[in-house]
Amino acid sequence: MTNRNFRAILTGSFSSPCADNPTVAMMEAAYAHDGIDARYINCEVTADNLEAAVKGALAMGWIGFNCSLPHKVAVMAHLDEIAEAAKIIGAVNCVRIRDKRLIGDNTDGKGFLASLRTVTDPAGKKVLLLGAGGAARAIAVELGLSGAKSMTIANRKPEKAEAIADLIRKNTECGAEAVAWTGDIRVPEGVDIVINATSIGLGDKDALPPIELTSLTEKMIVADVIPNPPMTRLLTEAKSRGCTTLDGLGMLVNQGLIGAELWFGRKLSAAVMERTLENIFGATD
Ligand code: NDP
Repeated sequence: MTNRNFRAILTGSFSSPCADNPTVAMMEAAYAHDGIDARYINCEVTADNLEAAVKGALAMGWIGFNCSLPHKVAVMAHLDEIAEAAKIIGAVNCVRIRDKRLIGDNTDGKGFLASLRTVTDPAGKKVLLLGAGGAARAIAVELGLSGAKSMTIANRKPEKAEAIADLIRKNTECGAEAVAWTGDIRVPEGVDIVINATSIGLGDKDALPPIELTSLTEKMIVADVIPNPPMTRLLTEAKSRGCTTLDGLGMLVNQGLIGAELWFGRKLSAAVMERTLENIFGATD
């Protein structure tokens, strides 16, 4: 009889609520396609159970896990080491476990950047970033570290935009200014990349961030973080004006690829991940 191994490698995610998070489908499809005997367990973990969940992962020999809301900041207290960019961002969403040590990273901004790099190099670019929540913060830091020239951060609550602008000025060479977002925002002259990092559009294909659509011009790249529906109203409007568009699925797939590389030291099949998400969310155009 040949030797058989009935012990799969364990990875997964801790969040609450977790039931609408499609990452498990994307990751397990890629594991199966790429011949990796691993599972990705999507776990409902409330804030008061985070420490127990982290200890559980360690006790069961998991090789890593993702953290989503509400744990991205709180998990940092339970880690042995935190990557430099994640330290600046102040949040961790991907943890790898090596020799019983927990090492935290942040793939939110890195996933966005990998998706952006398929159409442009951010170095030297001017950016308009809409929103100042967790996703915006991670994207801003990675753009700043990648040599973006300047960014304008617009948010309904301007103090949150100012906090990110301050973080960028202190930690990167990128110029950063915050603006209060009231009424339809006009894309400033010379902007190369416009990013919607708000939650406007999530689950609502008609919702549009307040923006003067006539200020979108065909030389611009317009990106949206919203994965569902992938073709948001903003992207539809931008496309009809000749802009290059990037949807939130690319960001999600690249986060999966980066996480798997941290855990397994190898690249998984992006095409399988994309197809899986498209089957779940519908086609992108
Ligand atoms: P947060 O709750 O931290 O931030 C939400 C942001 O949206 C804030 O800036 C908030 O403004 C703004 N906002 C919400 N509603 C409105 C509105 N009606 N008008 C103006 N601004 C509004 O969320 P996250 O940053 O964690 O996530 C944002 C989005 O990014 C989510 O939809 C999430 O699905 C998506 N995401 C996608 C990922 C991907 O891989 N594709 C990865 C991570 C997130 P204010 O501060 O003024 O309240």
